[in-house]
Amino acid sequence: MEKWPITLTAVKKTKPSADRLGFGKYFTDHMLLMDYSAGQGWHDPRIVPYGPISLDPSAMVFHYGQEVFEGMKAYRTPQGELVLFRPDMNLRRLNQSCSRIGIPQVDPEEVLEGICRLLLLEEEWMPEGEGNSMYIRPFIIATEAGLGVRAAQEYRLIVILSPVGAYYPEGIHPVRIYVEDRYVRAVRGGTGEAKTSGNYAAGIKAQEDVKSQGYSQVLWLDGIEKRYIEEVGSMNVFFKIDGKVVTPELNGSILAGVTRDSVLRLLREWGVSVNERRISVEELFEAHREGRLEEAFGTGTAAVISPIGSMTWEGRDIVIAGGETGELSAKLYDTLTGIQRGEREDSFGWRYPVH
Ligand SMILES: *Cc1c(COP(=O)(O)O)cnc(C)c1O
Repeated sequence: MEKWPITLTAVKKTKPSADRLGFGKYFTDHMLLMDYSAGQGWHDPRIVPYGPISLDPSAMVFHYGQEVFEGMKAYRTPQGELVLFRPDMNLRRLNQSCSRIGIPQVDPEEVLEGICRLLLLEEEWMPEGEGNSMYIRPFIIATEAGLGVRAAQEYRLIVILSPVGAYYPEGIHPVRIYVEDRYVRAVRGGTGEAKTSGNYAAGIKAQEDVKSQGYSQVLWLDGIEKRYIEEVGSMNVFFKIDGKVVTPELNGSILAGVTRDSVLRLLREWGVSVNERRISVEELFEAHREGRLEEAFGTGTAAVISPIGSMTWEGRDIVIAGGETGELSAKLYDTLTGIQRGEREDSFGWRYPVH
């Protein structure tokens, strides 16, 4: 039996030109679905035409937010092969998020196989052009109808694909960051380490407030003392101080990024000293005052490496690396994107051929 039966769309959409893709604006012709019910477990995996879904207005996701998601990219190598970057990490994290939000886990191999099927079906949507890729958004929602507060008994997994442009169409460049001192994103014991919509809902107001003042992201501090650095926007964050690299340790309220893990492994391979530990914002500003803060950057699938050019905290502004992209940030960006796109040797075995 065909594991992921395909229903083809009757009408194919017009594809956008590769130079105006942006991020998450266009979606391909098909999507992947799979349903869960308490009696049957996960069942009915299928690929169908992309389009609206119909849910009861009382579907539990609308009221209590039981949702988890993932974000990954597919690239085309110079040899023409379609590849994913460490998809096993994303699927493992999807199940960890499910576990925290009370959603039944999926079979990671089955879902990865479905994603490969969908990617191959939509191969003509794979955008040409330097830096472009196919963004993959798997997510799971509670679909059971009813307003009782408990774990739902019915869910749907959906995977949609979006051809996306280069994050930095004009080349990698540093961003302005505001250290958020009023709102918090997550607390220990909360859901910060799960990739779930509620964490984003909690962070949107802070981001909107500072965006109007010209900042591109907020830097999140811990939810208890508002002292220790957690993440930047929806990225993990790294600092180079005195030639050594530090990043906040995974403490329960930080999302364990695949890019974060890849950066740590590359740095260790290169013999750079790296430490996962608590970092206070005072320590950072003091290191800057003493001229020891050399670089700062965020890491995540969308941007890969996002250099931080300046930071504002309690009315104080600091400029990092002269507001330019630091040497290590640039090297990490080139190496990681090179591996992802199949332009560099993959000594860690991170590329996964879509088949
Ligand atoms: C997805 C995400 C990241 C980055 O994870 P990657 O696997 O590197 O893309 C970091 N922080 C938050 C809050 C996230 O949701």
